[in-house]
Amino acid sequence: MDADSLMRAVAEDESKMVNSLVAMLRVRAVGPENEGQGEAERGIFLVNLVKKLGLKTIEVLESNDSNVPTGKRPNIIVRLKGRTSRNIWVVTHMDTVPEGDLSAWKYPPYEPKVVSGKIYGRGAEDNGQELMASLYGLKALLSNGITPECSANLLFVSDEEHGNTHGIDFVLAQKIFKKGDLVVVPDHGEPDGGTICVVEKSIAWLKVDVIGRQTHASTPDSGINALEVAARFMTDTVDTLRKKYSAKDRLFVPPTSTFVATKSDPNVPNINTVPGRQTFYFDFRVLPNYDLDVIMASIEAIAKRWEKKTHAKIKVSFMQRADAAPRTPENSEIVKRLARAIRTVRGVKPKTEGIGGGTCAAPFRRMGIEAAVWATIPGTAHDANEYANVADMVADAQVYAILFAGNSLGNP
Ligand SMILES: [Zn+2]
Repeated sequence: MDADSLMRAVAEDESKMVNSLVAMLRVRAVGPENEGQGEAERGIFLVNLVKKLGLKTIEVLESNDSNVPTGKRPNIIVRLKGRTSRNIWVVTHMDTVPEGDLSAWKYPPYEPKVVSGKIYGRGAEDNGQELMASLYGLKALLSNGITPECSANLLFVSDEEHGNTHGIDFVLAQKIFKKGDLVVVPDHGEPDGGTICVVEKSIAWLKVDVIGRQTHASTPDSGINALEVAARFMTDTVDTLRKKYSAKDRLFVPPTSTFVATKSDPNVPNINTVPGRQTFYFDFRVLPNYDLDVIMASIEAIAKRWEKKTHAKIKVSFMQRADAAPRTPENSEIVKRLARAIRTVRGVKPKTEGIGGGTCAAPFRRMGIEAAVWATIPGTAHDANEYANVADMVADAQVYAILFAGNSLGNP
């Protein structure tokens, strides 16, 4: 079979793919931290679907979690054996964020509607579309009698939206991946499907506690105004860091590190009191060539200076820290193979980029496994009225089919 016939075979499954996604989205899969019951029911749905599609090698790895009714968080592996000993993986997640404010939805989030080529529902884009696309891409090989070049594996994980403990981190600890495996994580992308992400920035979420001394607003000198100290320390910190760590990397948008003050906790309830305590937060996204410890040392030095000047106490601590993983080289095997498959389906040469947020690809890269992040998505993840474009799902399924088939495809 040649690439065109395989792509046609995938396209013929369009309505099945749509129906499968709609049916899956009806089964809520929200983690216990967001008042959900986990992914167990959606996992059962998927195992049944995979069997119905004729794929026979299925494995369910369950992580124990006493916070969900079943006590288990499932992770599902589907395999189709290839001609070589090499493995390709497509890793997607089953869980979703909660639906949020119901009144903001045009259609109920768990009763998905297909309207002018769009499937509306919680989890349609994130990450249902790519889960179904990878599944139907694999199924197309099976039903057309194509043995993939590398063994083709799908992994549907739990717990992506909250910490990965019962999901990708749990699966990685089972040592089922090995060096030389090729991994695609389709959980970030652009509407045109033309961008492959190979590196992320480091992330630091910092909490700043400023402790002064509360007093009446008419006698400010008898207290220490924590809000004013916080404001001066805050602007000094972002100004200093932006100047000091100003390197650019063309792979990223924006190309620089970002140092941003974000949230502030309430201080005093009334206007005529000088606050004795102020807590606020920074969100930093840092280019991988900078060390977060070095940046933290700069912040501590700035804090010391303001403590001396104002006699307030300034405590800075990490709320979240994710050091950037090594990048997947732009000329690595997975990037080359994925780019070739995208070019075959879409006729465009994809570009590589870096992103500001963490992805499931980072833990793979830390283990020395090449992982690329790519998908064709509209950018509605976590929003009300989240949707997936049917055409994107079909085209991405074609990309996976071509990627899995590798050199098993003949010429027309
Ligand atoms: Zn996601």
